[in-house]
Formats: sequence, structure tokens, C-alpha cells
Amino acid sequence: MITAAPLATPEKAAIPEPAPRWQQAWRQALRDPVELLALLQLDPAALGVSSDALAQFPLRVPRSFVARMRAGDRNDPLLRQVLPIDREMQVVPGFSFDAVGDGAARKATGVIQKYRGRALLVTTGSCAIHCRYCFRRHFDYAAENASRDHWQPAMAAIAADPDIDEVILSGGDPLSLATPKLAELTDALMRIPHLRRLRIHSRLPVVMPERIDDELIQWLGHLPWPVAFVIHANHANEFAADVDAALARLRNTGAQLLNQAVLLRGVNDSVDALAALSERSFAAGVLPYYLHQLDRVQGVAHFEVGDAQAQALHAALMARLSGYLVPRLVREIAGDSSKRPL
Ligand SMILES: *Cc1c(COP(=O)(O)O)cnc(C)c1O
Ligand code: SF4
Repeated sequence: MITAAPLATPEKAAIPEPAPRWQQAWRQALRDPVELLALLQLDPAALGVSSDALAQFPLRVPRSFVARMRAGDRNDPLLRQVLPIDREMQVVPGFSFDAVGDGAARKATGVIQKYRGRALLVTTGSCAIHCRYCFRRHFDYAAENASRDHWQPAMAAIAADPDIDEVILSGGDPLSLATPKLAELTDALMRIPHLRRLRIHSRLPVVMPERIDDELIQWLGHLPWPVAFVIHANHANEFAADVDAALARLRNTGAQLLNQAVLLRGVNDSVDALAALSERSFAAGVLPYYLHQLDRVQGVAHFEVGDAQAQALHAALMARLSGYLVPRLVREIAGDSSKRPL
């Protein structure tokens, strides 16, 4: 709104930096299932939309991701990943609240180390999208968030362990932090001489490609370490022209792009869907890395694909695709020294 009188005297008015455009896309993300389904011309009642599931883990989905959903298709593989439904509220034995042992692997506030040589930094609890099958849907981010001005203990823990040569920026989604915050974080990491690699785990290039802007590319391009950038896409339909452009920019910084996917019933549990995902990822400059069996947390049982079927899918994928297009099929077991191949 334009006001007739200035709100502050000119000498006092600090001119704020204009907010990056991606933050506008962030604010415009859909949060209301009724609005989402109206856009897709679908009936909420017919889909079993659940207010309890919504209250447990809110809906959040960026508009550019919604634009890649097919209107009128209640089985759309992208829609299924984000829509809160009543099946999430069924209590299923064997599905817990800390399935991956994050509690036990905590090295310092915000630092999780399970495997030799690499430490995972929980930089934030925020994500641009809320994936219903996420193992972190019950994670206590308020307590475990290294970004809440207590990066110091995390940095001290990494600095004190010369065996750690790789730091993984994770979360939540690390790219939900503003770029100057990320730069602050990497500036602190640069003071740790034994780091050899930086890894970034982010779903943002896929779900909100606007995030890959000039400022982010500048930051990435000037990091002193080789960077592995691990995106997360589960279906070929998640790729589109704007995603391709964002990935091309990331690749031009010299980062190695990898994809991790989760094997999900009703989303990608067919050889055709998995092959299309690998081929589409590679066309965008991204190598398949992991295909995860989902972590068994409460609320996700209806997404689970049994181990026998998962192995059969993986074998069929190997018989169909070039070796480098076949991701490793793994499961995370608390206490193991690496992800466990199935
Ligand atoms: C999955 C994971 C890693 C990364 O494992 P890689 O096999 O190197 O990809 C690192 N730390 C934690 C805590 C993890 O859960
Ligand atoms: S983007 Fe990743 S961390 Fe965030 S909700 Fe989805 S799966 Fe979970």
C-alpha cells in the first residue's frame, strides 16, 4: 500500500535488502488440502483427507510442485507424497517414533554421526515441502536444531574429531536457510582444517527451483571443497524445465549431483516408474545414488513396499538399465556402520 506520508524520517529509515524472490515462493506454498484439491479438481471426501494427520504434520507444498501434478488424477504420484490422509493415523505395530536411531547417534546439539568420516549437521527443521513418508515427521527439531544460535557446540564437536573429513548439511532442508546464513555456516566450517568434502542434502532444487538463484550459485561456486549435492526426487514427473535449469546451474558450479529416492507404494513401486526416474534424473545431469526402503515410523506404513518386492524391482531394474543408472537399494538400521544393502 502506498501511504501519503513517510513512515520514518529519511535519515532513520534503513533501506532493507529486498527479500530474495524464492522467499516469496516459500510464503505462497499451499497449506490447505481443500485449496490444493480444488486446484486439481478433486473431492477431499473421496480422498480420505484427514484433519488429524494434518494436525500431526501440516501440509506444505510449493506451487511449482503442484503445477506438475495432473489435474483430476487422484492417484497422481506427486499428490500422494504430500496429501494428509486418514491411513496415516492407523497405529501399526513395528512402526515407531525414532526408527533410525537419531536419538542415540547424537554427537552434539545438531550433529548426528552414525558413520565413520562423515557428520550430519541438522541445520534447520524447515522444509519447503512436507513429505508424508518422512522419517523426521516426529523429530524434535526445536531441541535438535543447530541453527538456533548454537552452532558453536556443533562446530566444536566436528573440530575436535580429525576423523571427520566430510560434513553433510541436512535438516530439514538446509536450503531453507537464507544464503547469508549458509555462508556464515560454511565460513565457520572453513576454520576446520581436516574437512575435505562438503555434502548438501536438499529437496529444494526439485520442489522449489526458484531457490537456486544467483546468490546461492555465487556461494556454492566459491566453496573451498569439492561438493556432493544430493537431491531427492521419487518420480520422473517431479522434473520439469525449471527444475532442469536449476540443476544445470548447480552442476555448473562443479558440484557432483546425485539423487536419493524413497521406494513408495503407489508412487514409484514399479519397474517402469523407477526406470523412468533414473533416466529422467540422468537427463538432468543427476546420477541415481540410493533407493531407500522407508524408515518405519508411525504414519507411513501404507507407503511401505515389502523387502521381497523391493529386491525383485531392483533386480528388474538392473536387467533393464545401464549400471550407472541403477541406485543402490538400502535400508537404514540403527547401529549399523553404513546403510545396509538389501
Ligand atoms: C544416511 C546418512 C549419512 C550418509 O550416508 P552415506 O552412505 O555416506 O550416503 C550420514 N550420516 C547420517 C546420520 C545418515 O543418516
Ligand atoms: S524434504 Fe526431506 S526432510 Fe523434508 S519432509 Fe521431505 S523427505 Fe522429509
